[in-house]
Amino acid sequence: MTTERTFIMVKPDGVQRGLVGEIIKRFETRGYKLVACKMLWPGEDLLKKHYAELADKPFFPKLITYMRSGPCVPMVWEGREAVKMGRMMLGATNPLQSNPGTIRGDFCIDVGRNICHGSDGVETAKREIDLWFQPNEITKYESHSKDWVY
Ligand code: ADP
Ligand code: MG
Repeated sequence: MTTERTFIMVKPDGVQRGLVGEIIKRFETRGYKLVACKMLWPGEDLLKKHYAELADKPFFPKLITYMRSGPCVPMVWEGREAVKMGRMMLGATNPLQSNPGTIRGDFCIDVGRNICHGSDGVETAKREIDLWFQPNEITKYESHSKDWVY
């Protein structure tokens, strides 16, 4: 069991549908600690870096257009096994394969409009956090629930 940081981002459709609070709530109530959060309308360069490993995929141009369609809410969440649990809480990439109870499984049905992003590994999380946040945007604080939020 390790304390990790993961990068979670509400995508433009999640923001437009008013799901920011719902997504934050799920991580908060699960016991994760929000250490960075902002709203940002990302440009093409940032998105191409973020999704660099998908550049050869046929859906890549559409993915960039989708992600540029409005502001996003990038966040950093901290806690036990945050990366693995973040992915579990999001559900599968394709919402039609996401179990009910997961964020995608509860709120969407289209792989091209799947409302949120989550890092797929600890190293990816580090890279994504560095890409989207300046070091001084990540806060360090003691949670009031420090006896049970790790
Ligand atoms: P995940 O976001 O679950 O880590 P990937 O990294 O494989 O999934 O893909 C990044 C994003 O690209 C997905 O969240 C989704 O928005 C989009 N995407 C993935 N596969 C497809 C596809 N077959 N058609 C359209 N969009 C896709
Ligand atoms: Mg991915």
